[in-house]
Amino acid sequence: MNRQKIVAGNWKMNKTLQEAKCLAELIVNKAPHNDVKKIIIPPFPFLDSVSQVLSSRPDFNLGAQNCHIHSSGAFTGEVSAAMLQSVGCSYVLIGHSERRQYFKEKTPEFVQKIKLALSNGLSPIYCVGETLEERKLNRHFEIITEQLTSILSEFKLDEFSKFIIAYEPVWAIGTGETATSGQAQEMHAHIRSVLIDFYNSAVAGHTPILYGGSCNPGNARELFQCPDVDGGLIGGASLNEDFCSIIGSF
Ligand code: PEP
Repeated sequence: MNRQKIVAGNWKMNKTLQEAKCLAELIVNKAPHNDVKKIIIPPFPFLDSVSQVLSSRPDFNLGAQNCHIHSSGAFTGEVSAAMLQSVGCSYVLIGHSERRQYFKEKTPEFVQKIKLALSNGLSPIYCVGETLEERKLNRHFEIITEQLTSILSEFKLDEFSKFIIAYEPVWAIGTGETATSGQAQEMHAHIRSVLIDFYNSAVAGHTPILYGGSCNPGNARELFQCPDVDGGLIGGASLNEDFCSIIGSF
């Protein structure tokens, strides 16, 4: 199955405007011209400026780190899916483990956010992942199944066709500890089997599933060679030139 290869860089809450523009320019100038879809996910205030830098490369796309559960109104400090679309975003992260852990976001919010994302032409990058404790208790497959099916039950097949899934074991995010390629492949294959059960094998076969968690130029190639790993969601290593090496790691 020939699926779209994707590398997405989640800059989280890092950089100033000047630094963000410099980083975007560095990446745009150094990233290989290949068949990998590249997604840059900067903080909200830099979306418009970064979008302008990316405009010279059609293989680059803009994503946002979050959107609000309502479409507009008196929600001081929040950002809507329509606003993201209006500054050039095509993607939005939903369900990132940091949103789950620090902001206590749960399935009902993710469903509302994804609905608004889809109705504003944004593709959700829906993140799932188990904690170390859950893995030690051998509950990782059950946890991922639950994080997926609780969302999938809310979306019809044509809506789901816009999704990207990111498997990000919480114990690997920002820790320097990466899942082995065996662990990643095993979970990605499991996710695909959940999609087969829920929708069908064609849908499962077309859905991009990214690995995230301390992915770097030293481990990306081995991870991306796994048959069910279609690329990466990159945190720390998206903040410098390493991101370009990762894009070239297929
Ligand atoms: C992430 O937060 O999505 C992530 C994968 O971070 P890191 O690459 O730094 O582990």
